[in-house]
Amino acid sequence: MSLLSRSSVFNFAKRGFASSSKIPDLTKDRYPVKRGNYAIINDQDVAKFESILEKHRVITGEETQGYNIDWIGSVRGSSNVVLKPKTTEEVSEILKYCNSRKIAVVPQGGNTGLVGGSVPVFDEVVISMSLMNQIERIDEYSGIVRCQSGVVLEALEANVREKNLCVPLDLGAKGSCHIGGNVSTNAGGLRLIRYGNLHGSVLGVEAVLANGQIMNLMSNFKKDNTGFHLKHLFIGSEGSLGIVTKLAIHCPTAPQAVNLAFVGVENYQNVLDTFLLAKKELGEILSSVEMIDELSLGCSTTMCNIQSPLQTYPFYMIFETSGSNNAHDEEKLTNFLNNAMEKSLVADGVVTNESAKMKTIWEMRERIAESLLKMGYCFKYDISLPLSHFYEIVPVLRERVGDLAKIVCGYGHVGDSNLHLNVLCDSFNKEIYSLVEPFVFEYTSKLNGSVSAEHGIGFHKPKYLHFSKSKEAIDMMRQLKTLMDPNEILNPYKVLPPLNK
Ligand SMILES: Cc1cc2nc3c(=O)[nH]c(=O)nc-3n(C[C@H](O)[C@H](O)[C@H](O)COP(=O)(O)OP(=O)(O)OC[C@H]3O[C@@H](n4cnc5c(N)ncnc54)[C@H](O)[C@@H]3O)c2cc1C
Repeated sequence: MSLLSRSSVFNFAKRGFASSSKIPDLTKDRYPVKRGNYAIINDQDVAKFESILEKHRVITGEETQGYNIDWIGSVRGSSNVVLKPKTTEEVSEILKYCNSRKIAVVPQGGNTGLVGGSVPVFDEVVISMSLMNQIERIDEYSGIVRCQSGVVLEALEANVREKNLCVPLDLGAKGSCHIGGNVSTNAGGLRLIRYGNLHGSVLGVEAVLANGQIMNLMSNFKKDNTGFHLKHLFIGSEGSLGIVTKLAIHCPTAPQAVNLAFVGVENYQNVLDTFLLAKKELGEILSSVEMIDELSLGCSTTMCNIQSPLQTYPFYMIFETSGSNNAHDEEKLTNFLNNAMEKSLVADGVVTNESAKMKTIWEMRERIAESLLKMGYCFKYDISLPLSHFYEIVPVLRERVGDLAKIVCGYGHVGDSNLHLNVLCDSFNKEIYSLVEPFVFEYTSKLNGSVSAEHGIGFHKPKYLHFSKSKEAIDMMRQLKTLMDPNEILNPYKVLPPLNK
């Protein structure tokens, strides 16, 4: 299967706001947030930026609009300046200057983030990493790849495939998101069950601190136990501690055989039992386990005009295997499906390794987010919940919001206990908003879940961080922030809850 073809449908997200419909309200008008005490950009600042970069890499005026709006159209900033560095030294010069003037900045990758973290809240300068897109080295023996942070995930995948490797991360936004954005959000995606998260596969990073200091934390080895592992501070800190400029990532050998099963399931208990059976019978070749409820699948099939190979069921699951022997893997997957059907866990299903059919199946899953956006405004939640209670919140929330919502649906990486919960309405609506938040987070917290499984905290969730982190942990996060960015110029209003000054 070509992993590339699948996700290129998301290229339209390249310049931010995905939905063709309304431009969202300004963030400062929609949410109760107060501008920090930062400098306001003047002509001398712009001239300084033009002296660090070439003039055409300092964007001002109308062209900045796309950089101000997030992919889901939930937030809109009013920045008038976008900077496009090409080198680490340029990033360093920019930050040194911004820090000295107390100019706030927001690092931006592919702008596919789903928590409002990648765009300005007010007039912060956007530092777009899109031109830092060089791949320095692909070592086919060790599998270690070094590149700049602005390489688009899909392009990285295409390049490492030429050396028979694959990137240990795959997500629906791969046609637009950057590997540096993935690292900065510790993105999970469709194959986390197989390759683990980026804290494991990212071997080193280079990052520029708020004062312009370049931290070289690169490593060419999987094994390197020399003191504190500082790189982890930049994995998942969403641009709040530094700007990631380079990274080294371990890429495993590309699978020679990929097979998919797409199955229909009558109830959630059967989803759980089918997952258990898959782990037992597919073991080491299992590379993805996804769950989609009926309404979610209905959105992507209808809005994207995709023909599902199965009739309607309350739940669907996708099982992917990646191995080295197609006949062996196909046999295992077919046996698994037969057993699941014999045990009445699965009502119907198909197994395939034909690339066109696999592409269709993956599109039904990956285009749900896009389909929901096409239908209106979507409140999106990305939570980790114990599998025994994984789906319960969907009907509970549906009941709670009643007719105010058009659709309440759930899908996600069930193999990693990660639910994507969506509440769709015509447009942003304060009444639903107050019914859904903080309810979703309180509910999650009661089950000891996580309020952010993989998308991060961004702008939308700092006030809910305490549902998943202790006071002591938040205090230490704040101390680290003060140490590394004393003027708080890096991605303000995000990740950490505001201090009640
Ligand atoms: C259709 C779709 C499917 C998705 N599926 C998944 C999924 O399966 N799993 C998942 O985890 N996410 C998923 N996402 C969310 C999103 O794609 C990821 O969070 C992705 O990692 C963001 O990368 P980006 O380059 O677009 O970063 P951006 O959206 O530009 O930025 C995200 C955050 O990282 C910061 N940042 C970006 N680049 C840098 C840098 N170089 N240095 C420091 N900070 C930086 C930004 O300031 C921001 O806070 C999906 C999104 C879409 C639209």
